[in-house]
Amino acid sequence: MLEEIRNRLTAHPDVKLVAVSKYQPLVALEQAYNEGQRAFGESRVQELVQKAERMPADVEWHFIGHLQRNKVKSVVALASLIHSIDSERLLVEVNRQAEAQAKVVDVLLQLHVAQEETKFGFSLGECWELLTSDRIKTMKNVRFRGIMCMASNTDNEDRIRQDFRRARTFFDEASVVMNPADWNVKSWGMSGDFPIAIEEGATHIRVGSLIFGERIY
Ligand SMILES: *Cc1c(COP(=O)(O)O)cnc(C)c1O
Repeated sequence: MLEEIRNRLTAHPDVKLVAVSKYQPLVALEQAYNEGQRAFGESRVQELVQKAERMPADVEWHFIGHLQRNKVKSVVALASLIHSIDSERLLVEVNRQAEAQAKVVDVLLQLHVAQEETKFGFSLGECWELLTSDRIKTMKNVRFRGIMCMASNTDNEDRIRQDFRRARTFFDEASVVMNPADWNVKSWGMSGDFPIAIEEGATHIRVGSLIFGERIY
């Protein structure tokens, strides 16, 4: 329930709730909108485009899913923040499309911190290499805002906390080389682990099923 999560967030006024509405029908988004929710997270391009056409213009769209390079154009046009930059090739394409659309797009780098093989994202080493390279200096149409990650899919809270902590430590270390005016977003925490994520410094939590119920695939 949206209301319940909001109540839990009153103690954390700086944490932004991104309502993850992927695979949910439009009516579910409209209801949340009418309850005051403005930030919505989508993970599929086609779905984002369709929903953006039908929802009010003041919705803030967050793209959180794996993004294919041939679909970057509409995401750059619609998203206020792309959470899921998981390769340099994708980053280059996002920058290119943003330039073509004469805009600067806010991005997060997705770190692979989970102790699983299946998740997308940069390793800490790859991400550090990229952020300290000269290559990003020529990317004038992306604004590096911070880090996104997903914790291991487990009930083990210590492991989840450990994953968030690695991302948090990386974020802090990268602060030394990034523009402090921009580098201020830590996107971690989902329905099952957002309280731990907040304890571990999250500024944005991405909560889906706890708000909208189970997704229908
Ligand atoms: C689906 C998804 C979420 C939301 O997951 P819930 O468990 O439903 O809260 C958050 N982040 C990402 C990247 C997702 O793909």
